[in-house]
Amino acid sequence: MTDTQTKELCPICGQVLKHKARSTTYFATFYNCPYCKRFQLEDDFENYYLKDISQIDLALLRSVLYILPENSNHRQVPICEDNLKDLLSLANSPKTLLDKIDNTLAYFVDKTTHFGERLNVNGETLYRELFCVDKQELSNIFETLKGHISFNGLPHSGNTFQVWVEMDGLRYYEENLRQKQRNNQGFVAMWFNDKADLENHKPDMSYVYTKAIKPAIENENRFNSIKIDCVEYCNDINDEMIAQIRKSKFMVADLTGYRGGVYYEAGFAEGLGLPVIYTCHKKWLEGVPDKNIEKVHFDINHKNIIIWEEDKLEDFKTKLINRINAVIV
Ligand SMILES: [Zn+2]
Repeated sequence: MTDTQTKELCPICGQVLKHKARSTTYFATFYNCPYCKRFQLEDDFENYYLKDISQIDLALLRSVLYILPENSNHRQVPICEDNLKDLLSLANSPKTLLDKIDNTLAYFVDKTTHFGERLNVNGETLYRELFCVDKQELSNIFETLKGHISFNGLPHSGNTFQVWVEMDGLRYYEENLRQKQRNNQGFVAMWFNDKADLENHKPDMSYVYTKAIKPAIENENRFNSIKIDCVEYCNDINDEMIAQIRKSKFMVADLTGYRGGVYYEAGFAEGLGLPVIYTCHKKWLEGVPDKNIEKVHFDINHKNIIIWEEDKLEDFKTKLINRINAVIV
């Protein structure tokens, strides 16, 4: 890969790029944008698909690239028509316009530590964090929230300014949003393995999440699926996990890979009285002694675990939808 200094603009967000280069591995261009960070675009995707992409999908892509960790595997391969949908589904984006407005208020309430605190806002980054199509949309949302929040500038004006939450905003959040969030959220505890090694029964878990678990939870838009490595801004992953589990209505705990963290999170959720739906890859449930895979931990193996296999993810999704419908009222 050869880097060239450039004043060219980012094809996703329009900001001046730090670098642009041809990939030596793929028919693709490598970009480094101060906001989207490092990513690659497949030639066909960039030359054809991107020209016709809807404003909403482009905005979502901009937000995902802003939020996605720098070391994410999704940055290692060029974005193309085939993987775009999976990439966009990583974000926990608002489903409706009202959700977008509520999210904006919740964002400020969550960040406020004492009443009257003035929070610094940079419109250029915040419109990405809050899944807006542009800074003007975020300014419009600010105007709509007037009375719930106050501010001494607007996102599209280009300067940093302050926002603070008013009593009406706090009350609305407590009375409506906290409960709404709790009623909507399904938390997923699972192994973060995203390199498939099928010979040793190590499936690409982010693929399993995208293809089966997330669509099952979000079936008919009933719930939002939260998996902690998809939620950003968390410095301490444990604190963030605990906070998100507390906000959830139920948990899906996948036991594949026997991660201590998954057992811990499932135990925590059970302690809070949340329904926990257990799932596990067939081989990891039964055990494969010659691959060093013991069967699932005895304290949990009496639970009614949904068993899945990587070549039957559609079937897994259906079973999980049925279980969620049966267990969660
Ligand atoms: Zn960019």
